[in-house]
Amino acid sequence: MAQQTRKAASTEEEGKGKGKPNADYGGQPPAQYCDMPERVPRILPADIDPRREHFLRINDKKWVNGTRLKYYFFDRPTDGPQGTWVGAAAQKDVVRRAFRAWKDLGIGLIFDEVSDREDAEIRIGFMAGDGSWSYVGRDIIDYAPDPNQRTMNFGWDLRTDYGWDTALHEIGHTLGGPHEHQNPYAGIVWDEDAVYDYFSGPPNNWDRATIERNILRKLSASEVWGSEWDVNSIMHYQFPPGLIKQPTQYATQPLVPRPGLSERDMEWVRKFYPPIEEEEEEPELRSFESHRLMIGPGEQLNFRIRPRYTRDYTIQTFGASDTVMVLFELIDGEPWYVDGDDDGGTDTNARMRLRLYRGREYVLRIRLFFSKMTGETAVMMW
Ligand SMILES: [Zn+2]
Repeated sequence: MAQQTRKAASTEEEGKGKGKPNADYGGQPPAQYCDMPERVPRILPADIDPRREHFLRINDKKWVNGTRLKYYFFDRPTDGPQGTWVGAAAQKDVVRRAFRAWKDLGIGLIFDEVSDREDAEIRIGFMAGDGSWSYVGRDIIDYAPDPNQRTMNFGWDLRTDYGWDTALHEIGHTLGGPHEHQNPYAGIVWDEDAVYDYFSGPPNNWDRATIERNILRKLSASEVWGSEWDVNSIMHYQFPPGLIKQPTQYATQPLVPRPGLSERDMEWVRKFYPPIEEEEEEPELRSFESHRLMIGPGEQLNFRIRPRYTRDYTIQTFGASDTVMVLFELIDGEPWYVDGDDDGGTDTNARMRLRLYRGREYVLRIRLFFSKMTGETAVMMW
């Protein structure tokens, strides 16, 4: 995100100065913004059913609910040039509080700080001048598989109101949220020349591709949740006057989202990651018994697996559906990621082949992207 700026622009950037900004935008110093890393969109068949495409795109990067996401702060003098990925205690505390703020909404994801980078899905650096950014949702696994890679960076001081919103925003990306100002329902008409001018200047110094990726490109309607524009979303940048032609008021006034999480932010995150009751024990998945999945798009089923033998097993879904299937091992009651497969947008089924051990316990989580008819999907292990 880029956030920088949700409150008044920060002044961090001054140290980096590469000259004056190209124009005067309401007398504010230009702000630094979140720059999301590039990714390759999922390729879908050209003649795909639009409903199927919608459910695929909207669930594409989301985690299965109940995933325990472990985060790690880089801590070695060799992390980044001259150890610049290592954050000060006060900066790390802001990030910890921001994880807690999302968790306190009652969502089913679990966040735990770990001290080994190898255990972490989310690996956080604090390299000043490298911007603030995060991969989106499960892209973390696909795009940053190396434990020495960052999945998130904070490039400016988080101990301000703007910094707090930055921390919430980057975690919002990690949970699978896109930029709200790219929501096609926003109906924003940009003054493209002004946008290129503003973001190509300091402190962002973005090239055209970065500006298009983070600002100008509209998401497809199938990628966004709901059909409304949430101007107060934590996933929305603030903009100085003059970058937006329509709605016309922003030609002369800044667009400044309210600080913190908006009502709709809370709604979408609870929709994708509803609370999980602690006591509920999942039905058991036994070898050679198939279970029908009586769930709708976006919904999830969970199974407990207690293998009777130590051997290689295959776990597979059946039927014309798109699913993501993830297996966790329970160690001291905590779920640890073992393997996952995602057949979204393909004609094949989700399938895993792996060794399971007698005496251990596993949880299988299956989220349905799309199925033409409820109950036309099943899962089996053998
Ligand atoms: Zn962002």
